[in-house]
Amino acid sequence: MARRKQIYEGKAKILYEGPEPGTVIQYFKDDATAFNNQKHAVLEGKGVLNNRISEFVMLGLERICIPTHFIKRLNMREQLIYHVEIIPLEVVIRNVAAGSICKRLGFKEGEPFARPVVEFYYKKDELGDPLVSEDQINAFGWANPQEIDDMMAYTLRINDYLCGMFAGVGIQLIDFKVEFGRQYDGDLMRIILADEISPDSCRLWDIETGEILDKDRFRKDLGGLTDAYTEVAKRLGILRKNEEISDTEEISDTKGPVLVSNNDDKKD
Ligand code: UDP
Repeated sequence: MARRKQIYEGKAKILYEGPEPGTVIQYFKDDATAFNNQKHAVLEGKGVLNNRISEFVMLGLERICIPTHFIKRLNMREQLIYHVEIIPLEVVIRNVAAGSICKRLGFKEGEPFARPVVEFYYKKDELGDPLVSEDQINAFGWANPQEIDDMMAYTLRINDYLCGMFAGVGIQLIDFKVEFGRQYDGDLMRIILADEISPDSCRLWDIETGEILDKDRFRKDLGGLTDAYTEVAKRLGILRKNEEISDTEEISDTKGPVLVSNNDDKKD
């Protein structure tokens, strides 16, 4: 079999040429990085978990008519996606103050915002992904006003969907990052959701205990990152209760999210 052509290697993923024109294979690595690559580790099983969680989220978003690059999962570490021209922006949406906004604007971690706030960061590692304004994005040609509107509207809808999805399994969605790309079809172009949505790109706190279930476990040296991601996957019904992840074993059909009820009187 011919060796696949690698198109790109990022911090947590590798892209290979896909089997058909306009397709790409996205491979999820176990590498974790933080603070603009200053901190690095290989956390066994992380790639498998992110592949599964991102697949689950993308399929859910397709169901509410958010166009995404996801076509299908190929195996435990790879998914087939549409080729897009990545817009060089990280779109962050925040429901509760955490991370960089606390340092930048003095919010207290855990303080909820009156409404979700969207921010754009310019994707440029050498510059540490700086915060940019819509006017800068437009003036410097990174995206036009219509594209900015589309990204903003999609991000707000994704946030509503994910807030509900995670709340249903006892998790609070604090913030997350998404990326978009342009997909061309002849003269037509559309903006679609790209990259991944996983605990690497979200902040997820257990509603009852406040336990951190996302990449902050690595950033803050808390340990137990793959256990936390496994817990997220189990609650979403991606892994069964006693199941552990593996690179080779295909996971059988799962039942879907394990809903959490606030009703203490409920009878089983
Ligand atoms: N985020 C990400 N990739 C980045 C920067 C941020 O996925 O390069 C996510 C991060 O996991 C969090 C949200 O975007 O869910 C907001 O991150 P923040 O701006 O607070 O930056 P951080 O504190 O992670 O440096």
